[in-house]
This record gives sequence, C-alpha cells and structure tokens, in this order.
Amino acid sequence: MSRSVLVTGGNRGIGLAIARAFAAQGDQVAITHRGSGAPEGLFGVQCDITDSEQVEAAFAAVEEAQGPVEVLIANAGITDDTLLLRMSEDQFTRVVDTNLTGAYRVAKRASSKMLRKRFGRIVFISSVVGLTGSAGQVNYAASKAGLVGMARSIARELGSRNITANVVAPGFVETDMTAELPESRQKEILAQVPLQRYAQPSEVAGVVTWLASDAGSYVTGAVIPVDGGLGMGH
Ligand code: NDP
Repeated sequence: MSRSVLVTGGNRGIGLAIARAFAAQGDQVAITHRGSGAPEGLFGVQCDITDSEQVEAAFAAVEEAQGPVEVLIANAGITDDTLLLRMSEDQFTRVVDTNLTGAYRVAKRASSKMLRKRFGRIVFISSVVGLTGSAGQVNYAASKAGLVGMARSIARELGSRNITANVVAPGFVETDMTAELPESRQKEILAQVPLQRYAQPSEVAGVVTWLASDAGSYVTGAVIPVDGGLGMGH
C-alpha cells in the first residue's frame, strides 16, 4: 500500500537515501530542505525544524500534496563538536534544539493526524554515540540519547493507536557530515569498526523502510544499531 512519507533533511545524505528508498517502493514521499530545493523526483518543502511555524507550514503543504503523514522519519541533524570546557551554552542548545527539540516538533505535529488515522510509523535517526558517548560531542550525544527516551515514551503513549516509534542508530556513514572529520580521526574510527568500513546511506535506509513496513509492524520502542558493530554491547 502506498503511504504518505515525510523525511526531514531528506535533500541530502542519509535522509535523501531514505527518501529514495521509500519512493522506489511506490510511496508518496516529501522531504524538507532549508533552501536547496528538492532533489529530482521528490516533493520538497522548505522548513527549518527549529521554527515551529515553519514546521506547521511544511506539514500543511505536505498534507495538501499527499495527505496526512503516515510515516515520519525525523532525520535532520547537525554537529558542532568541541570539548566540554570549550563548549559554549549556545553550541549546546543549538544542537539540542535541532536534533532533539526539532524531532519533538515534527513528531508532535505528525502524531495528531496519526492518532486520527489509527496508524503511524515514526523513526528517529539517532547515532551510535548517543549510547556510547563521544569525546568532543557532549551536545550531540546528549541530543541523540534524548531521542531514545522520546521514542520509547511515544511508543508507550501511542501504541494502543497502532503508532510505532523506533530509533535507528547509525555508526559512521559516508556523508557530508563525516567528510568534515580529519583524516586521522577517520582512520581511528575505522580501526574500531568490526566491518572495517563506513556505511553507505542506503544501508541505513534499508533498515528504516523495513521498520515502516508491514514486516516491522510489531517492533516499537526499539533502538536498532546500523553501525558495523561499532557500538556492540549496549
Ligand atoms: P548531512 O550533514 O549530510 O545532512 C544533514 C541534513 O539535516 C540536511 O538535510 C540538513 O538540511 C538537515 N538539517 C540540519 N539542520 C536543520 C534544521 N535546523 N532544519 C531542517 N533541516 C536541517 O547529515 P547526514 O545525512 O550525515 O545525517 C543525517 C542524520 O543522521 C543526522 O541526524 C545525523 O546526526 C545522523 N547520523 C549521521 C551519521 C553519519 O555518519 N553521517 C552517523 C550517525 C547519525 P540542509 O541541507 O538544509 O542543511
């Protein structure tokens, strides 16, 4: 059955791979961007998820184009790394406002319509470092760990209405975000990954589409690592 899907930050990187994977299976897919426009073949809405009014306008536009969002992928996220003692309060709150509060804004807006439909699939894109921690990423890891508590609370609140909420926790994926890391850091990371390579965005997308599919319908409140074994043990 064709679903109405919204992927935040679906204009590039992991979000784009997720959007393409849903589109390839015949779903109606909308993505948010902050000015880049939509990639070919996808319906795009401009939206900064730190702004509730933009979130409201984006959902209204998506609903008009393809009906209420049945599958929400909260993927948009940023990093702003530095050690704790150097991290300004602004650096901390900006990352949390995007990665965690932004996910809350879109999940809340989507869930009102999901409740009415008695169907919904929400997937939050977290990170391996939300569970392991990461030096230099106090803000980012806190925001990504917060998504676990958020998803599990939503799973409990809305489970009786056939709405699932899950977390996908990627390890290192080849995107603009990881391309920014110095080469020495990239080598250190690879040495810790049992599969000895980065993920391709499509390898994250496959798990996300599975969670939203009928095959994943009894999975809720789960944290699924897609990290080549990097975070094993949690
Ligand atoms: P990219 O840096 O390639 O893309 C980030 C996306 O988020 C872009 O679409 C960007 O939009 C969007 N975005 C950022 N801030 C906002 C905002 N305020 N409002 C709306 N959209 C915003 O990241 P990745 O594809 O690598 O990462 C996607 C997700 O996966 C993130 O949540 C990230 O934390 C997570 N992740 C990534 C890993 C990796 O190794 N790459 C590992 C683990 C998790 P725009 O184009 O307008 O800037």
